[in-house]
Amino acid sequence: MSVRLYYDDPALLAFDGIVTACEPDPDGRGHRVALDRSAFYPTSGGQPHDLGHLRVDGHVLPVSDVVADERDEVWHVVAEPIEVGRQVVGEIDRGRRHDFRQQHTGQHILSAAFDYLLEARTESVHLGLEACTLDLHREVSAEECRRAEDYANFVVFGNRRVSIRFADADTLVDEPRLRKQTGRTGMVRLIDIEDHDLSACGGTHVHSTGEVGMIVVRATERFRGGTRVTFLCGRRALESYRDLRDAVDASARALSVAATDVPDAIAKLRDDLKQEQRRARELADRLVTLEAASLEARVDPAGVLVAHLPDADAQGVRQAASQLVSTPGRLVALLGGPSPHALVIARSADREADAGALVRQVCAAHGGKGGGRPDLAQAGGVVVTVDQLRSFLG
Ligand SMILES: [Zn+2]
Repeated sequence: MSVRLYYDDPALLAFDGIVTACEPDPDGRGHRVALDRSAFYPTSGGQPHDLGHLRVDGHVLPVSDVVADERDEVWHVVAEPIEVGRQVVGEIDRGRRHDFRQQHTGQHILSAAFDYLLEARTESVHLGLEACTLDLHREVSAEECRRAEDYANFVVFGNRRVSIRFADADTLVDEPRLRKQTGRTGMVRLIDIEDHDLSACGGTHVHSTGEVGMIVVRATERFRGGTRVTFLCGRRALESYRDLRDAVDASARALSVAATDVPDAIAKLRDDLKQEQRRARELADRLVTLEAASLEARVDPAGVLVAHLPDADAQGVRQAASQLVSTPGRLVALLGGPSPHALVIARSADREADAGALVRQVCAAHGGKGGGRPDLAQAGGVVVTVDQLRSFLG
């Protein structure tokens, strides 16, 4: 079984080892290689695997995945096979390892802060390439969350020691500092954050809390009766701060206000817009009323009117048609806007005609979709001229 070098030294980024097994990768990604010892972290405990490469006599093979099987063997997935017994040099991707050491240790610190201050237990953890989350067993308020965040950063600023030790699981049953009982048996690896947290964990961590850098809670949401907390540590917190700063600064420039005044400025803009929209609607209604009045003169002696209102939308033509058929004896067909048009056909209460049937006939011949009642019907997307429309009205 491969000796896991990161257990004792998570800062180790280069090592040598001997190939103990090599076989085709079961997922068809080339081959997988086991070594007598390895510093590569395999995907486990909610933390993704390391990347890097294996070097064989100057030949470099990138490692695309690292997995632990059910027997606890660590497999390195590479494109080409390597002979059993060959010596290899392994090199770990420094940036990715450092990032996950920061996120992982930050998670211990933050989980312990929630636990210690608020008795909110961490049920599960996900350390992703984009986002890291921890799920608390109960709901926490924004104020509680802020307190835990403050306390976690207090622990960071104190630059406390993070040490690794091993203990027999049986001796841990009565260990009061252990945050969560481990279900494991035999030897257990413990991560001890000075005066803050003791957890059983096989992951990669930093040596002192200052290395984690800032811990920030980016979002919280209700999740399975508790709270899912999205957090960022170290380099990720810095990058997130920059993204947010750039977005807020750009918004502030666009609004010509100070960055801290952006929310108020947006609220004011929204109110102004609502008021302007209301005013625009009122003006449009008034225009339609005037246009409908001007159409009165074009109603023929049989009470029929067909017309196009180029500036009216569906609501406008409907309103104009309703106004025109308030006079008895009328049958009115109006087109609105540019082609394809909005269409409304309406009749006065005393007139024999089925507006719904007429609209369906027009649509069947000239496209568009619509329908309605015998006294008023409408359609959209109709491609028809005023003269063509008139022919439907007899
Ligand atoms: Zn851990």
